[in-house]
Amino acid sequence: SEPAVTGLAVTGLTVRFAGLTALDGVGFTVAPGSVHALIGPNGAGKSTCFNVLSGVYRATEGGVRFGGTELTGLPPHRIAGLGVARTFQNLALSRHLSVEDNLMLGRHRLTRAGFASAGLRLPLARREDRAHRARVRDIARYVGVDEHLNAPAGSLPYGVQKRIELARALAMEPRLLLLDEPVAGMNGAERRRMAEVIARAREDLNLSVLLVEHDMGMVMRLADEVTVLDFGRRIAGGTPSEVQRDPAVLRAYLGA
Ligand code: ADP
Ligand code: MG
Repeated sequence: SEPAVTGLAVTGLTVRFAGLTALDGVGFTVAPGSVHALIGPNGAGKSTCFNVLSGVYRATEGGVRFGGTELTGLPPHRIAGLGVARTFQNLALSRHLSVEDNLMLGRHRLTRAGFASAGLRLPLARREDRAHRARVRDIARYVGVDEHLNAPAGSLPYGVQKRIELARALAMEPRLLLLDEPVAGMNGAERRRMAEVIARAREDLNLSVLLVEHDMGMVMRLADEVTVLDFGRRIAGGTPSEVQRDPAVLRAYLGA
């Protein structure tokens, strides 16, 4: 069959820090338009994997291809430019900027004229800026944070900030979305709301999603496929229900 055009393929990914192997020959693929969950106990290497995929960390060995392009070795802005957007396990919003400006920052890579010339009030830049702001407002409405557009991001409740992070990633018009624990620290109602937005965005925007999540309910509900890591190694993979009854997974989680 033809190689997946917008799919992600991770092969033999190894990341070593001084004296520690955080990822050890990990491989998996994310099919276009699918949700793939990356799970495993704390310290398994999930965030490290995200950091390699987004260009924050360098792979010691192995490769990452997205839509036919090798991502390993590219700087973060080049990877973002290829349509890979991420959220962080810990909030990474600019707390003092308004929600709207946070989303505009997410959109930066699409702004041909750039914000500097927008500041000089060149007519084209102004028109582009208006178009971007309109799109950012649409995305805010889509994610349900439009009522907060003018508020400083840091002044809002934690659950709202997590959705703003998602909105900022969507403002980049990504093809692949990397979500690191999107519902961590949220209550039940906030979790359901976030799950709905992710499921809807995936359908409407035909996104591929790589999801790191501890909430197995979320994983069961959202993921088509699951990869399980433990101490940097891939110990299991399959559909959510296959993985849930895999003895290796039970051992990893129960520490047996
Ligand atoms: P997870 O997200 O699955 O909880 P991480 O990827 O954050 O796991 O961490 C995997 C391992 O790599 C841990 O032992 C962690 O301490 C280590 N690690 C992560 N980042 C660094 C770093 N920058 N320097 C040294 N060790 C790191
Ligand atoms: Mg982590």
